[in-house]
Amino acid sequence: MIEVKRHRFEGVQFDESPHTGGKITPRFIVMHYTAGGSALSSVRAIRERGLSAHLFVDRDGGIIQTVPFNLAAFHAGPSSWRGFDGLNQHSIGIENANFGFFDRRTSDGWTRTGLRTFAPHEVLVARHKNGGPEIAWELYPEAQLRALDAIVAALRAAYPTVQEVVGHDDISPGRKVDPGPAFPMARFQNQGGAAGSGTLRDDDLGEFEVVVRETLNLRGGPGTGFAVLRALTPGTRLRVLREEGDWRQVDLQGDRVPDGFVHGAFLRRVGP
Ligand SMILES: [Zn+2]
Repeated sequence: MIEVKRHRFEGVQFDESPHTGGKITPRFIVMHYTAGGSALSSVRAIRERGLSAHLFVDRDGGIIQTVPFNLAAFHAGPSSWRGFDGLNQHSIGIENANFGFFDRRTSDGWTRTGLRTFAPHEVLVARHKNGGPEIAWELYPEAQLRALDAIVAALRAAYPTVQEVVGHDDISPGRKVDPGPAFPMARFQNQGGAAGSGTLRDDDLGEFEVVVRETLNLRGGPGTGFAVLRALTPGTRLRVLREEGDWRQVDLQGDRVPDGFVHGAFLRRVGP
């Protein structure tokens, strides 16, 4: 269980980066890979290039924070997503220790210039969703993914404005391929909040109508502890995408992309 206190993870190593921008309202979490070895070596390499990220996550789950979550880090570059441009101003950036792709097949696995050979069980062979040849991608170890589970949950709890977890390859397609096909994005998009990657969710529990006397709060997560995103008026039509306890994750636009959560007691089914 990690907790945010004064825009830092409590009990996590903080190695302050000199490369920070102004105050941000985090709306997205952007996942990257470092294309390198240990997280610590990438903290240094990225710093030397004048860049930064809020967090670095090692293959064994170790975490290093280098920028407070309320300040911009320089991780996204030219990018856009859901009407926002320049995602550094709107996101928390996470660099994951991972070599990325291996473009050369050998007799016992896959490699890239300067790296050892990676065995078949260490990689995923796939074509990137944005195109390109079928090559190998380093798998993310479960210890690293567990650390990311905890990180994403803690950030969503501390920053209810966070709507979505996306990849650098979603917000800068054509220019970036990280975190790549081996990154299990769906695992993080299904933790409350909105779905992402521009993909539609499979779940859809039908069309409902808001039944309240005055207004119904649309919240950033499944509970009254989450921020109110807006107040829905009686008769508002929406689609319920998913149930989480008494709460319903809903879509207001009809595009099956989640917009927030409402309490299920104030909804009446009106269609399939
Ligand atoms: Zn990146």
